[in-house]
Amino acid sequence: MFPGGSGKTLSAREYDLIIVGGGLVGGGLACALRGAGLRVAVIEATSPGAATHPSYDERVIALSWTSRRILEGIGLWPRLGTDAEPIRTVQVSQRGGCGEVWIDRRAEAVDALGHVVPARVIGAAIHDRLANATDIVVHAPARVVDVRVTPQWAELEVDQSGLIERLRARLIVAADGGDSSVRQRLGIAVRERPYGQDAVIATVTPDRPQVGAAFERFTESGPLALLPMTDGRWSLVWSVPQEQTAGVLALSDQDFLARLQTGFGYRLGRFVRASSRRAFPLVQRLAGEASTPRVALIGNAAHTLHPVAGQGLNLGLRDVAALAEVLVAAHRAGGDLGRAAVLGAYRSWRRRDQTEVAATTDFLARAFIGGWAPLRQVRDLGLLGIEFVPVLRHQLARRLMGRAGRQTRLARGLPLEVQDG
Ligand SMILES: Cc1cc2nc3c(=O)[nH]c(=O)nc-3n(C[C@H](O)[C@H](O)[C@H](O)COP(=O)(O)OP(=O)(O)OC[C@H]3O[C@@H](n4cnc5c(N)ncnc54)[C@H](O)[C@@H]3O)c2cc1C
Repeated sequence: MFPGGSGKTLSAREYDLIIVGGGLVGGGLACALRGAGLRVAVIEATSPGAATHPSYDERVIALSWTSRRILEGIGLWPRLGTDAEPIRTVQVSQRGGCGEVWIDRRAEAVDALGHVVPARVIGAAIHDRLANATDIVVHAPARVVDVRVTPQWAELEVDQSGLIERLRARLIVAADGGDSSVRQRLGIAVRERPYGQDAVIATVTPDRPQVGAAFERFTESGPLALLPMTDGRWSLVWSVPQEQTAGVLALSDQDFLARLQTGFGYRLGRFVRASSRRAFPLVQRLAGEASTPRVALIGNAAHTLHPVAGQGLNLGLRDVAALAEVLVAAHRAGGDLGRAAVLGAYRSWRRRDQTEVAATTDFLARAFIGGWAPLRQVRDLGLLGIEFVPVLRHQLARRLMGRAGRQTRLARGLPLEVQDG
């Protein structure tokens, strides 16, 4: 615990900025700020490269078109290399219905709507990029155990292998995930809505190769996504009611594939192989504010979403791009990075995107559950309406690609900082 008001102070290591959480989003922010002239610390609870890393696990991520631009701008994209599989079309449909929507890269005039990359590959790219950065200090494994904000500083107590160290900066960024301890310790309000579902993930292989299509299919139990991976494999994310999860995980591969076949149909032929499965509990968590004095929240610490439509990390990367842009401009202008005007600029920039994406994913996760015939017909009409009204289809495509709303410099393919001259 921090010493009370006795006046006793321990000397604290100082940085311009401290990022709590070196996952995909916190690590991404550190990469974005590399070379920006700031002294940055990243505090990450898990050892680098640990198989149990909570951010770089078996998840496979559908990165949007905008996320690719951001990752290019922060130097990570070339490192994803041959592991990134392009998405050229997306089909949205529901089981037992006739309505479906096709989104095609050609209608959006892009080479790919997005790319599919294993989370571990993105994590390794972040790790490599930070490994020899002289302006970024990574404390790992190290856990933030206390946070205090004063008018001038944000101060942290960090437990590094049993040794408690104090660090301080003008600004701390909470990138410590859905259970953010920074958010909790500072008493930042959060709205929590459990879905009563788990996302079961697996890698599956069908016998009919199909290049570049991603599928989002609404089944009675919940949304089912199949994302194309390299080598003819597909990443499955299937939301199931929590009471069914243990049973689904316990199925033999053969029975699991038969169940998948019933839910998805034969668009990819017959499923012949499945990896081991893992389940993630699904809950939406939205922080009341994306910043409070001397603290900014990004990624899952600010918004944890249902994985339908694969938006969580994409939204987090847009937080990264906006916050990095605001911070670099503030640093260039001189003065305090944690001042209210800087945080206000970040918060107001991100509010609309965060709110709209959270509302859309929540709507999709809830409205498309259940097989009640009249409701299914309404959903069919909705899908048909989107398919046959190009402007609606285009809007959906822009949302999936992360192109809606005010774009950051990185998302526009520009360097983070306005160049002189
Ligand atoms: C099944 C599934 C599929 C998904 N698919 C997609 C997809 O296709 N596309 C997409 O965009 N998103 C997807 N997502 C969402 C995406 O995975 C998350 O949004 C993203 O990983 C969040 O990253 P983060 O860095 O904000 O949080 P986290 O990954 O939770 O990272 C937080 C980090 O903080 C560290 N930490 C926590 N507490 C402390 C502490 N006290 N001190 C120090 N460090 C700490 C942790 O060790 C961790 O490394 C999916 C999610 C799920 C569950």
